[in-house]
Amino acid sequence: MKKTLLASSLALMTSFSFATEEGSAAQETQLPQTLFQNVDIFNGTEDKLYEDHFVLVEGNKIASISAKTIEVRDDAVIIDGSGKTLTPGFIENHAHLMLMGPTLPAMESNTTWEDFAIHGTRMAEMYLMQGFTTVRDAGGANGGLRRAIDAGEIVGPRYYPSGAFLGTRGGHADFANYTAPVGQETNFSRLNMAQEVDSVADVKKYARNNFRMGATQLKYMQSGGVVSAFDPWQLLAGSPEEVGAAVEVANTYGSYVMAHSYRREAILAALEAGVKSIEHGFMFDCEISDLMKEKGAYITTNLTAFDPNLLEIPAVKSVPSSLAKAKSASAAFKDYIPNMKKCPAPRGFQTDCVGSVDACNIQIAYEKKLNNDFFGAYESLKTLTSVGGEIATLSGDFMNPYPDAKLGVIEKGAYADILLLDGNPFEDFSVVGTGDQWFGADKRPESPESIALIMKDGVIYKNAL
Ligand SMILES: [Zn+2]
Repeated sequence: MKKTLLASSLALMTSFSFATEEGSAAQETQLPQTLFQNVDIFNGTEDKLYEDHFVLVEGNKIASISAKTIEVRDDAVIIDGSGKTLTPGFIENHAHLMLMGPTLPAMESNTTWEDFAIHGTRMAEMYLMQGFTTVRDAGGANGGLRRAIDAGEIVGPRYYPSGAFLGTRGGHADFANYTAPVGQETNFSRLNMAQEVDSVADVKKYARNNFRMGATQLKYMQSGGVVSAFDPWQLLAGSPEEVGAAVEVANTYGSYVMAHSYRREAILAALEAGVKSIEHGFMFDCEISDLMKEKGAYITTNLTAFDPNLLEIPAVKSVPSSLAKAKSASAAFKDYIPNMKKCPAPRGFQTDCVGSVDACNIQIAYEKKLNNDFFGAYESLKTLTSVGGEIATLSGDFMNPYPDAKLGVIEKGAYADILLLDGNPFEDFSVVGTGDQWFGADKRPESPESIALIMKDGVIYKNAL
């Protein structure tokens, strides 16, 4: 009885709304308008600002950009950005939204899906409020968080998860307890956050499973690491056939592989196997730069690895084996920055924080600062915007969740992911929300004061004007 009543009232409502819509069909198709006026534009690619310009957003895209005022409807939202810089929303190319730390063994032993989900939800909101309208996740997250963000259930950036880390036994994605026998299920494997892959068949099986679970690209651990238990950072983890198997599966989905690669030989082998995104890539040199150009590949590097106080970090300092690894890694990685200046390659922004929301907020702000310290404002702004947009599109036409427009640029037709910065980042880079300190820094505000407005997909999430 109840059901019938509900059904008939729904039918009535539908016919009623059809009747009222008939007279106003034209209005129905009009998209909401937001006009930014008198803004100085950094468009994501050029080493300049377009001063005193106008940008019209219609729906979720940029409809026009002009040096003169743009006609809008009476119901348009007008934002006066005098003295402000309008930039594309920032893009983080290497985060781990699900991994709250404090250590990998602690997460393996004591963390449930609820802990991971709650942490991921809070991280997603924090990233957006730091100005990041897009985040690529480099391992440990499947499609659920993106579904919730895109459905508007929670607040967060556009999101490109990689599914489970794919790595060899004893490699950088082996988070199992020391005593865990080969092949035994782990907390991470049950939740498809990390999978042990020791053959071409394993790689293919779990790579396909990642796409099934909502990954937009794959993450393969091609080198060892510093703060992981069983692997020297110099480890060459996967055979060319195994890395190639990941690339083969990714290509069947029209997507690509990102590879955690420290050592020169690992980077070159990954590129030869068809990997499109080198993660960290600390032993980058001119030969690698040339091969990247030939292959159309990108590199993303966390510059905190070159922080002068790296050896003082608690997670490194407190574990003797990690400290020893960090010392030898620092010595081996010393040429990264000079080499990147000598033979530049398209470089995406990455923070790679595993830890609490407050700690990651601090690390992101510090990573922004180091980019400017090492490479200057223009290179840093490009890294934070258009290069990240190009990396996002590597996920291809089928797996890219946002395939209708460009990301990371201010141009006609691009997605309306927009920030207003309170000042000129070419003169004072701190307006992007930098932090001067990493460990020992005070808790940072929910959103930097200098980021006056945050728009994602045409929707305003912060407006301090
Ligand atoms: Zn990482």
